Amino acid sequence: MSDWQFPGGDLMKGRRGLVMGVANDRSIAWGISQQLAAQGADLAFTYQGEALERRVRPLIESIGMSTMIPVDVTSDTDMDAAFAKLKSLWGKIDFLVHAIAFAGKDELQGSFVDNTTREGFRRAMDISVFSFVDAAKRASALMPDGGSVVTLTYLGAERVVPSYNVMGVAKAGLEAAMRYAARDLGPRGVRVNAISAGPMRTLAMAGIRGGRQLMSTGKQWSLLKEDTSMEGVAGCALYLLSPLGRSIAGEVIHVDAGFHVVGVPDEAGDDV
Ligand code: NAP
Repeated sequence: MSDWQFPGGDLMKGRRGLVMGVANDRSIAWGISQQLAAQGADLAFTYQGEALERRVRPLIESIGMSTMIPVDVTSDTDMDAAFAKLKSLWGKIDFLVHAIAFAGKDELQGSFVDNTTREGFRRAMDISVFSFVDAAKRASALMPDGGSVVTLTYLGAERVVPSYNVMGVAKAGLEAAMRYAARDLGPRGVRVNAISAGPMRTLAMAGIRGGRQLMSTGKQWSLLKEDTSMEGVAGCALYLLSPLGRSIAGEVIHVDAGFHVVGVPDEAGDDV
C-alpha cells in the first residue's frame, strides 16, 4: 500500500463528489481521493470491469466509502446509468474528479506520424477528451448550487515528449475542452480547471515506452530536483475542489516540481 501523507481537516465536510479513474493504489485519482476523504468529503467512484471492482473496493472501504458504479466512458448507457444512480443517491453533488485517459501501446512509442492510426486517434480522443466533456456536462447538471470540476493533464499537451505522441494531442484537446467547459459552466457557479502533473509511476505511465526515462529526466531537470509527489498533486486537487480555489476557473496548474519552466537543463551549462 502507498504511504502518502495527507493532512486532515474539514475543508470538504458536507461536500460530495464523483471520482473517475481509480485503477489501483498508485492511481492519481486514488491519491486525490485519500486527500479529499481526509478533509471530510463523501465520495462515489466509477470503475471499469469486474477485475477493477475487486481491486478498488478494498481501497475505498479503507477510507470509509462504499459507492462504486461500473462505467466504461465510451458507453452512453453506462454513463446514463452512473449519473442516474448518483442522482438517486445524493440528488446533487459538489465536485467531479476526471482522471481517465487511454491510448494504445503501439501508439505510445516511436514516430507519432507513422504510428497514429485513425482508429487509435479516435479512441484516444473519445476516452481521454470526450469523456471529460460528457462527464462535466452530466456532473454539472447535478450541481445546482455550483461546484468544481478537475481533470488531469500533462506537459505533453504543450511540448513534444518522446513516445507521448497521440496522447499529447489528446491532452492538448483536453486542455482546450477544459477552457470551453469553464466558459460554459462558469456562469452557473461551476469552476472547471486542470492539473498538469509531472510523470508519476502509475499503470497509465507504464503503457508509455520510455516512461522510466521520463521520470528520471523529470527529476533531474526539475527546479526542485525531485519526483512529482502524490501529496502535491492531491493537495492541488483539494485546493481546486474546495472553497480555497474560489475565483479560479479555466486554469491549468502545473504540479511537476517546476519542470515545465526549464528551457535548458543545468547540465548543459556546465562547460560554458
Ligand atoms: P491510472 O491509474 O492507470 O488511471 C487511468 C484510469 O483511466 C484507470 O482507472 C483506467 O481504467 C481509466 N480508463 C481508461 N479507459 C477507460 C474507459 N474506457 N472507461 C473508464 N475508465 C477508463 O493512471 P494515472 O496516471 O493515475 O492516470 C490518471 C490521469 O492522470 C490520466 O488522465 C493521465 O493521463 C493523467 N496524468 C498522468 C500522469 C502520470 O505520469 N501518471 C501525469 C500527468 C497526467 P482501466 O485501468 O480499467 O483502463
